[in-house]
Amino acid sequence: MRIIPPNPDAGLASYAALESTSHGRIYSEASHPYRGAFQRDRDRIVHSTAFRRLVYKTQVFVNHEGDLYRTRLTHSLEVVQIARTIARALALNEQLVEAICLAHDLGHTPFGHAGQDSLNACMRDYGGFEHNLQSLRVVDVLEDKYAEFPGLNLCYETREGILKHCSRRNAREQGDVGDRFLEGKQPSLEAQLANLADEIAYNNHDVDDGLRSGLITVDDLCSVALFHEQHEAVCRKFSDISERALIHETVRGMINRIVTDLIDTSRDEINLAKPTDVEDIRSRPRPLIGFSPEVYKEHRVLKKFLQTSLYRHERVEQMTVRANTIVTGLFELFFSSPEKMPAEHVARAVILERELGDAGRARVVADYVAGMTDRYALSAYRRLLDADIKF
Ligand code: MG
Repeated sequence: MRIIPPNPDAGLASYAALESTSHGRIYSEASHPYRGAFQRDRDRIVHSTAFRRLVYKTQVFVNHEGDLYRTRLTHSLEVVQIARTIARALALNEQLVEAICLAHDLGHTPFGHAGQDSLNACMRDYGGFEHNLQSLRVVDVLEDKYAEFPGLNLCYETREGILKHCSRRNAREQGDVGDRFLEGKQPSLEAQLANLADEIAYNNHDVDDGLRSGLITVDDLCSVALFHEQHEAVCRKFSDISERALIHETVRGMINRIVTDLIDTSRDEINLAKPTDVEDIRSRPRPLIGFSPEVYKEHRVLKKFLQTSLYRHERVEQMTVRANTIVTGLFELFFSSPEKMPAEHVARAVILERELGDAGRARVVADYVAGMTDRYALSAYRRLLDADIKF
């Protein structure tokens, strides 16, 4: 029996990122008999080594502090859920959105932002390190799985969404996906919403993780209007509710309010702007996906609260110090003695050093250290530098 391929663009808005108008892959490939191009991108990401590492990478709390905190993997899955809901409501490309969201954090170092800041400092003289750019590097270069091309050879639209921020200096080296940062243009609506779904996911799950850790309290959070409003509403509706369910219902109410606002506001913006197709979306000076001014402000207040009360909490800061010791120690060790890295990294270091000198060797070391999970980095540090380091 011959399988008739379904039309992956069926039911989508004309201004969605369509497969029929895709800019395609870097290395051209024959189409698949029954999977669309963005579906294949999603599948390649899920099968990648970098994706499996996300389960042992810190979001805010180090993996071994507790089994119930978000990791990069569960964070990425929550981003997908939120983004797919929004995509479906706006008739945008759900498959593409899913691929972008699953890949958005692949370039993160061990130990969350603390690890990225340390690695960036180590790379100061060699072009710096930025997790967002590294996510693109993982899918374009570092994954080694396919016989006919390096990386995962994803579609332009998926890569466009992965590169959500980029300095002008770095943009010049990124080819087609870097151009919009130089020209002041927008990415597809799918990329715009994936970016905001990331923010919605972490602001809300960090409330839950923060409360679970005891580093912030419900009383503290009641100073944040977005939380307070939903918390009051749940208390009014359910007088006899467990503390855990109260927190979950509150966070659920917050996500619902923010996501509904985003869908309504974006739909109004789209109706007003009347975009014709994805190229029209890209040529605009500002994004069409966004919050109402009121929710934008409320969401920012929540973000500020988390920054001052949770991310800069003494206990989280302690992790930052240890992460810096480990990441910097490993970088310096492998930079001065590259032969201590596994054979495939040593081979790459030789090639890149020949091409780019010290900067080439530094880049290979950064790729290796960035790819480590928290526990791999910790055990490498203990084995090679200090057996007694506590974490
Ligand atoms: Mg993220």
